[in-house]
Amino acid sequence: MVSILSSSSVGARPVRAARGSVRTCKTWQAEAALRMLMNNLDPEVAEDPNHLVVYGGRGQAARSWAAFDAIVRELVALESDQTLLVQSGKPVGVLRTHDDAPRVLIANSNLVPHWATDEHFDDLARRGLIMFGQMTAGSWIYIGTQGIVQGTYETFAECARQHFRGSLRGRLLVTAGAGGMGGAQPLAATMNEAVCLIADVDASRLERRRASGYLDEIAAGLDAAIDRALSERAAGVAVSIGVAVDALTLLQRLLDRGVLPDIVTDQTPAHDILSYVPAGHSVESAARLRDSDAKSYAEQSLDTMVQHVQKLVELKRRGAVVFDYGNNLRARAEQRGFAEAFEFPGFVPAYIRPQFCLGRGPFRFVALSGDVRDIELMDRELIRLFPEDTGLARWLSLAGERIQHQGLPARICWLGLGQRQRAGLLFNDLVRRGALRAPIVIGRDHLDCGSVASPYRETEGMLDGTDAVSDWPLLNALVATASGASWVSLHHGGGVGIGYSQHAGQVIVADGTPEAAGRLLRVLTNDPALGVLRHADAGYAEASAAAAQHGLAIPMAPR
Ligand code: NAD
Repeated sequence: MVSILSSSSVGARPVRAARGSVRTCKTWQAEAALRMLMNNLDPEVAEDPNHLVVYGGRGQAARSWAAFDAIVRELVALESDQTLLVQSGKPVGVLRTHDDAPRVLIANSNLVPHWATDEHFDDLARRGLIMFGQMTAGSWIYIGTQGIVQGTYETFAECARQHFRGSLRGRLLVTAGAGGMGGAQPLAATMNEAVCLIADVDASRLERRRASGYLDEIAAGLDAAIDRALSERAAGVAVSIGVAVDALTLLQRLLDRGVLPDIVTDQTPAHDILSYVPAGHSVESAARLRDSDAKSYAEQSLDTMVQHVQKLVELKRRGAVVFDYGNNLRARAEQRGFAEAFEFPGFVPAYIRPQFCLGRGPFRFVALSGDVRDIELMDRELIRLFPEDTGLARWLSLAGERIQHQGLPARICWLGLGQRQRAGLLFNDLVRRGALRAPIVIGRDHLDCGSVASPYRETEGMLDGTDAVSDWPLLNALVATASGASWVSLHHGGGVGIGYSQHAGQVIVADGTPEAAGRLLRVLTNDPALGVLRHADAGYAEASAAAAQHGLAIPMAPR
């Protein structure tokens, strides 16, 4: 991995964000950015903090440790009317703007389309000229594996509704990749009452998920894992079982034994050919090959992906529900010559798009106090604010019971257009009244309704064929900036890899002031509104209805 990172471990040290209501920076917006950057690199949060890697293959928070130090310095000195510019994890300037402007503007991993190839990107990364920002790594709003838990939970729940009469009790879900995001799968599966069997080639990643409560147990061997999964499926017990093998080996063994899982998916880092571990390799031998012969590594990786997808297609043909989980595995296999790779759908068109049409998407908040009681209070207040949303209440109580915090205490929940700004204003008021111990950071994944163009993921199979139109995420970043978000980011390649997506992020701070209330109202209304407009424009009737309900002006009807 090291040879393809823009960073080395020179200067590495443990980093942990400050807690509490006393700030080092001149504004709470800059202070929040500083703490969230540091929180992304907290050893409890990041997958490989020494190399500044937060999650998602090689998603980094800063380009180098020297760049990290410079960002920290600039944030501490930043005035309330200045904006720091960050280009692929390196601070490149400070400009005079105004109090309502973002304190930080970030662009990560962007390349002009013709040059947006893995080879060109890797060459620049090796020379320290660019950095892979993933989605929330380079935009400083990662909250650990929790960040994706609810999305994964909603996906599995919708799968249950569509295929299993609403429940996964007595069902076996097989998957692979227990990394920063993939590690949410076992918990989301058992929250839906399923048995989850998950493979990861790296035993230490499984151990990490078990230690943080995301994974229940690790089996001693492959057949023992399969046997245990089958007996728990028969007994209808919800449990997650990890096994330290690569994905292909697990799927091959299931096929050889004639075992048919109910659901099969995958979250290995296939978006990045040099992160996905090819068949026949341990983590160590893969690292040696990557360093000594990246070309051969890439060939082996792609060949394994073809076989991996062939097994998934075979399981589908035998009757399992199979879906792609947003890592671009199908496209890799198709490009390598497997014509049937797209025989199974992506998770967004299969399960998530109806939510996007309503402006529903990931809403995450972080307590800068560091005090878990602040999150507990906000959970309770959200349930009171939206009594009609029984799914939200169920989720928040499950999350409160089952999710351990990593780094600064945080919560994820999915909220729609109309809900997000009410939640933001409520939190701001709680800060103003002193009910919360310090300001709150509100942000989201780039995986949202209006913030991403990704034809093999969020925008796969759009009604009007506009899957690859990336005007929408560009508009999203502009809208967040115009509305007064605290920091705004524009990225390329996260989730599915270089050349395959463009996406935007925004983060907004509730510090209890009237100025923050104005910004929160604008940002948390306009951000999901753009998602509704994007889907209405593509011809989704539910989105047009949502736009009408919320009084959004649409100058021209979709064609
Ligand atoms: P990560 O780099 O933190 O973890 C990847 C894990 O996969 C590691 O534990 C690694 O050991 C393991 N792995 C690598 N090759 C393997 C193989 N051949 N077989 C089994 N295990 C293997 O990545 P992450 O943050 O967990 O993300 C995983 C993938 O999911 C990425 O492609 C990411 O873009 C995608 N993703 C999807 C969503 C979504 O909502 N669908 C969200 C975020 C990320």
